[in-house]
Amino acid sequence: MAAARKPVPVAEAPSRGRYFNSGNGPSIVPIDIGHKEYMGLIDPDTAFWSLVKKDRLADTLTDARFISAYKKKSEKFADEMHMLRFGLKPTAVYFNSTEQCNLNCTYCYIPGDMRKNGRHMTEKELLAALAKLKTHFRKTMPKGRLPQIIFHGAEPMLNRKAVFRGIEKYRDDFQFGIQTNATLLDDEAIAFLTARDVSIGLSLDGHTAAIADKTRTNWTGKGVFEKVEETIDKLKGYHGFSVICTITSENMRHLSSMVDYLHARHVPTCLLNIVRCTLPPSLAVKPDDTPSARHFLKALDRSRELYKKTGRKLVVANYANILISILAPTARRLMCDISPCGGGRAFFALAPNGDLFPCSEFVGLARFNGGNLFKDGVDAVLESEAFKMVTERKVEDIKACGKCAIRHFCGSPCPAEAHETNGGMKATGSFCEFYEEQTRHALRAIADGKDNDYLWDGWDKGTRTTFDTHML
Ligand code: SF4
Ligand code: SF4
Repeated sequence: MAAARKPVPVAEAPSRGRYFNSGNGPSIVPIDIGHKEYMGLIDPDTAFWSLVKKDRLADTLTDARFISAYKKKSEKFADEMHMLRFGLKPTAVYFNSTEQCNLNCTYCYIPGDMRKNGRHMTEKELLAALAKLKTHFRKTMPKGRLPQIIFHGAEPMLNRKAVFRGIEKYRDDFQFGIQTNATLLDDEAIAFLTARDVSIGLSLDGHTAAIADKTRTNWTGKGVFEKVEETIDKLKGYHGFSVICTITSENMRHLSSMVDYLHARHVPTCLLNIVRCTLPPSLAVKPDDTPSARHFLKALDRSRELYKKTGRKLVVANYANILISILAPTARRLMCDISPCGGGRAFFALAPNGDLFPCSEFVGLARFNGGNLFKDGVDAVLESEAFKMVTERKVEDIKACGKCAIRHFCGSPCPAEAHETNGGMKATGSFCEFYEEQTRHALRAIADGKDNDYLWDGWDKGTRTTFDTHML
């Protein structure tokens, strides 16, 4: 039997039952992970997992030592999972310092009129917002840990002066990041941001202009591929740099080439994020679930091939997070692939007028406005009905997901698209197979001992193994 390594979850009190799957015994569901030798065994309630050789499945499920060892640990796993899902406070803010954007990307979640005619936050407002957030996080965060502020959409560089002023003034109080379309990042801006260790995320959807410019153009329809490429080259060697590629019907067939392209340009980290279908325009480029999953997995395999060939990694961060959620749940980043998702509980989003939303995906949707940073306390906003609609959306309550064995590695994202386009919070998001196949791929990678090839070096510093079936 292969081992379940590192801390693994659970949600219920330890059972007194003597057998798996009957009476009061815990449930362990065998799942096909597409491996020639191994099956997965998962407790769907707790996300405890193990890998077992197919010809040892019956022996494992009836192995009294396995049941007993699992039961001993289950209470700890339950507490850990409960804490991850319900016990944490936000540590990051997606800070929208302007409503405007100089681009008009096909799938943007911010309403077009807002991006065209919206307002900037003034420098005074931006500094006041950072002061308020500093006071809030001082109360809630452990000493020695800095909260994160990520300047985010629309295009933060349109409000450059105020943003840079905020970074300068509060550089000791926050860990800053900026997510930008790269078109306005000149040499001076790059020097300013890199000297202050600000993490920089750029957006690019393809390895050629013909592909990338299908979804990312300015308001006159002109693509921006060349400009982004130029910026990527200028950032070569900067450790805090990543590229987000949004997977759509326009680029999904080219994801492996995109991986080649980014690796050749020494990008250390990328995110291959499936498009969020929150607003109708994104539906026009929604990829089909099955082929997008297939192309995504091919791109993952390509990233590993390149690592093996060159000794240099391009980490696909969204997949790496799924791997980490399996290997060491408490080390995972709480974003989309946990339920409730990170929106409103691990982070929240601030709009330029001070309004607060659980996630940037909800900015512009009035019913998800939980209050205003300048008028209401953050604590009250976190408890608002608008936030609770998101923070109380649990995967167990979603009919299609309630019986899914891997629901705690997926989380059934995204509540914004479930609510806006699929009929409500109890609906699934727009993709299932994409998330299912990621988890199966991750379990295969673990079975083959390839998991570290997909992860940042030293990712597991500070983690420890709490359950290892090799020891039975
Ligand atoms: S699942 Fe959707 S709402 Fe939740 S964090 Fe991800 S993008 Fe935001
Ligand atoms: S969306 Fe699919 S993979 Fe995710 S929890 Fe629901 S059924 Fe499972």
